[in-house]
Amino acid sequence: MSDAPVFPKRAPAHAAMTQFPIRDGELIVGGQKLSLLAERVGQTPFYAYDRSLLRARAAQLRDALPKQVKLHYAMKANPLPAVVGLMAGLVDGIDVASAGELQVALNAGADPAEISFAGPGKRDIELNQAVAAGVLINVESPRELPVLAAASQRMGLPARVAVRVNPDFELKGSGMKMGGGPKQFGIDTEVLPELLAEIGRLSLAFEGFHLFAGSQNLRAESICEAQQKSYELALRLAQHAPAPVKFLNLGGGFGIPYFPGEQPLDLAPIGENLQQLVGRAAQEMPQASLVIELGRYFVGEAGVYVTRIVDRKVSRGQVYLVADGGLNHHLAASGNFGQVVRKNYPATIGNKAGSAEREPASVVGPLCTPLDLLADRMELPVAEVGDLAVVFQSGAYGRSASPQDFLGHPHCVEVLV
Ligand SMILES: *Cc1c(COP(=O)(O)O)cnc(C)c1O
Repeated sequence: MSDAPVFPKRAPAHAAMTQFPIRDGELIVGGQKLSLLAERVGQTPFYAYDRSLLRARAAQLRDALPKQVKLHYAMKANPLPAVVGLMAGLVDGIDVASAGELQVALNAGADPAEISFAGPGKRDIELNQAVAAGVLINVESPRELPVLAAASQRMGLPARVAVRVNPDFELKGSGMKMGGGPKQFGIDTEVLPELLAEIGRLSLAFEGFHLFAGSQNLRAESICEAQQKSYELALRLAQHAPAPVKFLNLGGGFGIPYFPGEQPLDLAPIGENLQQLVGRAAQEMPQASLVIELGRYFVGEAGVYVTRIVDRKVSRGQVYLVADGGLNHHLAASGNFGQVVRKNYPATIGNKAGSAEREPASVVGPLCTPLDLLADRMELPVAEVGDLAVVFQSGAYGRSASPQDFLGHPHCVEVLV
């Protein structure tokens, strides 16, 4: 055996979280030092979403994508009314997935003409609400059609419909199964001609197609390929449609870097690809607007989750920073929201973010379960009780996607700063 020291393999790093600057050693969120922001919020844990970053992201997308492409915000990523209100002013439309979300979007001032409503298992009452509101309904089942026709007749209003297609392909590299399999979403391409004919017979107002092939993708070429295939499929299906296509929603799937080794998505090739599709659509579907719908890409990087350290323990050499919130507010960062292998979100000690004094430590929440883990043996600034642990990339699928009542700890608050 050799006595030469064994150097640990350098682990891949998280992408730099440069969207939040560091001043006087502290993280700046919404233009304010984190410790002061915590004072002004008045409690931990909290989520903070930075307005200027939301605006910058929308501007970046407008810059990179053709101006003819409509940008929609899928509000399930972050349904905080203040966020939805801000987003409504930045995008061309809001995508909702329930009547509850529809209410929030309407309250926020979103234009009903530019709202679309997708989701399996829409209840009759939700379909009625959507017709009354005048929003576009993405039909996901033949069962919805007669309900919509009856609502339309009773109210004397058009039932605006697009058809959500369950394509025979999937977005590669999304962590989703490839090849067109059975799904609870959308309608299989095989039965679409018949469904489109039924839409015509029932005199529903057909407006287009909706395809959503996957989520959280960081590979531009996969996204371009899915957009091309979606376009081709919609073009074929348009031959069977009872009216010209007005909206062709090509889905989204744009990802953000969460885990070590992941790099931000390159928008340039996607912009070029869409430019080509915009050109084709002008010839082949002249009344159609192309729509891209994004949730996490709009809001994910603009948010942080902030939790205060209430205890510092050492167990058999490993440092545990026990915080006042965890899985109950941020299920995704704990690794329990669809991750197959748990990996750390980028994190720091926000009031000491600039500190050179670092150590490997785990940040855990207060719940009586080992699943309540925010950072597993990460290199972090040395922290004491009272310091503020921060989880980055927390603007999407955070509070609303977490089991707040589990174990009865206080709820977190959310601020738009
Ligand atoms: C969830 C969802 C989105 C948003 O997905 P992100 O990964 O957050 O961009 C878009 N469209 C549909 C139909 C969805 O269900």
